[in-house]
Amino acid sequence: MTHIPGIVITGASGRMGQMLIRTVTESDQARLVGAVERAGHDWIGRDVGEAMGGQPLGVTVTDDPLEAFAKAQAVIDFTAPEATVEFAGLAAQARCVHVIGTTGMSDAQIAALEPAARHSVIVRAGNMSLGVNLLVQLTKKVAAALDEDFDIEVIEAHHRHKVDAPSGTALMLGEAAAEGRGVQLADVADRGRDGITGARERGHIGFHAIRGGDIVGEHDVLFAAPGERIVLRHVATDRAIFARGALKAALWGQGQKPGQYDMVDVLGL
Ligand code: NAD
Repeated sequence: MTHIPGIVITGASGRMGQMLIRTVTESDQARLVGAVERAGHDWIGRDVGEAMGGQPLGVTVTDDPLEAFAKAQAVIDFTAPEATVEFAGLAAQARCVHVIGTTGMSDAQIAALEPAARHSVIVRAGNMSLGVNLLVQLTKKVAAALDEDFDIEVIEAHHRHKVDAPSGTALMLGEAAAEGRGVQLADVADRGRDGITGARERGHIGFHAIRGGDIVGEHDVLFAAPGERIVLRHVATDRAIFARGALKAALWGQGQKPGQYDMVDVLGL
C-alpha cells in the first residue's frame, strides 16, 4: 500500500481553512491529521467536523502547532503573515512540507522563511489555482512581446473582508509583467487601491483593488497603448480551486529536496 500523507490545516476555522478541511477529507490521496487555530479561539478542543457544523472527523482543534505538525507529513497554511513565519520554523522542526497560501507578507517576513527552507520543503504562492498560474505565464509572455507604448494595469476585485491590497495575485501578475519587460517592478510600479494615485509614466505598471460583497477573486491584466488594448482575465468563482492547488502542492512536496518552491514548479508550467 502506498503511504498516504497526513495533513494539518492551520487557521482551521477560516474561509480557506474550512475549504481545505473539506478538500483533504474528500481526497483519497491524503488524510486529515490535525487542525490548528489561534490560542483562545472557541474551536480549540472541539472536533473540527462538528465545529464546522457537520459529522465528527476525529480531529480535535488545537492551539499547539508543533504537537500537530509532529504527526503530519504536510502543513497547509492559509492564515496571517506573523503566524506563517512561526509555522515555517515549526514545520521545519517537524520535517513537514509547508504549503503557504498566506498573502500580505512583508519582504522581512519572506526573508525569515529562508532558514526553515534549509530543512524543509516550502511551497509558497499568492494564488494556488491552475488558471491564475497560467495567467502569470501568459502575462510574462505578452509583456515581453510588447514595447513600453503599452501601459500595464492590474485590476483586482475581492470580498469586503480581504485584509491586504493589492492582492498577492495582483503582485504576482505585476512581477510577471515586469520580468517579461525586463524591468524591476519597484521602478515602474504605481500602487494604489483607490484608483489613480499620482503621475502615470509611459510604460508603467499600475494596481487597482476593488473590495465588495462576497467576490472570491477576479484579476484583469490590461495592456493599453494608443489605439489598442489587450485584456487577460481570470475569474475565480469557488475557493475550492485554491484548496485543490494547495493539496496538490502538499503531495508534490513529498520527497522533494528542501528549499522554496512555487506553483509553477508544482504544476510544471
Ligand atoms: P480568514 O480570516 O477567513 O482565516 C484566517 C484564519 O487564520 C482565521 O481562522 C484565524 O483565526 C487563523 N489564524 C490567524 N492567526 C493564527 C495563528 N497564529 N494560529 C492559528 N490560526 C491563526 O482568511 P482567509 O480568507 O481564509 O484567507 C487566509 C489567507 O489566505 C489570507 O492571507 C488570504 O489572502 C490568503 N489566500 C490565499 C489564496 C491562495 O491561493 N494563495 C487564496 C485565498 C486566500
